[in-house]
Amino acid sequence: MIIGVPKETYPGERRVALVPVVIPNLAKAGFQVVVEAGAGEQAGYPDALYIDKGARILPDRAAVFSGADIVAQVLCYGSNDVAGKTDLPLMRPGQVLIGFLRPLGSADILQQVAQTGVTSFSVELMPRTTRAQSMDALSSMGTICGYKAVLIAADVLPRIFPMMTTAAGTVTPARVLIIGVGVAGLQAIATARRLGAVVSAYDMRPAAKEQVQSLGGRFVELPIEAKNAQDARGYGTAQDEAFYAKQRELLGRVIAESDVVITTAVVPGKKAPVLVTAEMVKGMAPGSVMFDLAAERGGNCELTRAGETIVAYGVTIIGRINVASEVPYHASQMYARNLTSFLLNLVKDGKMRPASEDEIIRETLLTRDGEIVNARVREFFALPNWPHKGRSDLR
Ligand code: NAD
Repeated sequence: MIIGVPKETYPGERRVALVPVVIPNLAKAGFQVVVEAGAGEQAGYPDALYIDKGARILPDRAAVFSGADIVAQVLCYGSNDVAGKTDLPLMRPGQVLIGFLRPLGSADILQQVAQTGVTSFSVELMPRTTRAQSMDALSSMGTICGYKAVLIAADVLPRIFPMMTTAAGTVTPARVLIIGVGVAGLQAIATARRLGAVVSAYDMRPAAKEQVQSLGGRFVELPIEAKNAQDARGYGTAQDEAFYAKQRELLGRVIAESDVVITTAVVPGKKAPVLVTAEMVKGMAPGSVMFDLAAERGGNCELTRAGETIVAYGVTIIGRINVASEVPYHASQMYARNLTSFLLNLVKDGKMRPASEDEIIRETLLTRDGEIVNARVREFFALPNWPHKGRSDLR
């Protein structure tokens, strides 16, 4: 089977779906790899490195799509809504597409992907099981985002992070607050601690407390309890507006005492909850920094502008999006390892394994034979006529 790696087209995207080092592993399992010329350039992987590892370089995107049985991308149409659309006419029935497709984003876009006849797999739908851990691209990218957000915030902050005893006396450490302690939040805690900051963190999931403490952070306890804070997959759940209003009220003081606030609070398929109001930003000391990692999903701070950095009441509010792409070398390497594990599980003896045989394949399978076939996604969009006759293999 031939895996094709086209250049990423999302504006400013620097990652690439497969890096040279994974090619020998794929070759051992019978895969050949073709790469669009220059696809890895921005991530630090020139064409020559791919050729060294046995890949073929093809001159353009159309050649990659027409020559590949499986197309591997980072941001597919779905998570790349404008530029990604030009891929639709390049896809063909039965071809496999793997990448970030934003499966709980737009039903209309997913239908367009389905209508090309591609068999698509969305990495966002990866089950959170031990066996799927090596394929969990969301977690890999979350790790990168949490790390990079701290470095960017530290760079913008007009203070230093660690406590220092200097010839000019003692400098107190920066106080960093992380709101939302998933994978990105945990890495943000670890990174801020490594830089010497005093770190506090808050999550509505009580299970997060132990994880925060194990990283040397102080867990912020608020006297409110979320209803069913965590779903069966480990994700935080949506709460009602009264809960968010109470959270804002209680978080005000902790936020005002922080030099850096990094927010990551999101709920799958929902707009991010607003946890920081303009009034709360006003309460922060001038020069403080707010990095809203939920900017792409609407933002945890009411003043955030996705894709921009602004200053309000003397506070720098960073709404950068696609932060993982800012560390393209390792983000690509981690993503490529995740995809390689996924591909080695998906294909046996040169053939795709049926979805009925494997939970990972079944749960990530998004479209096939012209339809959205993923049970969770169909349920989310309340798509009618499900399950179809003869499709019990997908449930
Ligand atoms: P995420 O990116 O979906 O969300 C970030 C965090 O925001 C979550 O911890 C969520 O609880 C929190 N949040 C949402 N709304 C909030 C609110 N109103 N107030 C405060 N916090 C709010 O999170 P994630 O990275 O997907 O991680 C979620 C959990 O799943 C973590 O415990 C993580 O360790 C776990 N996880 C497990 C696996 C695995 O088992 N293989 C893989 C990845 C993550």
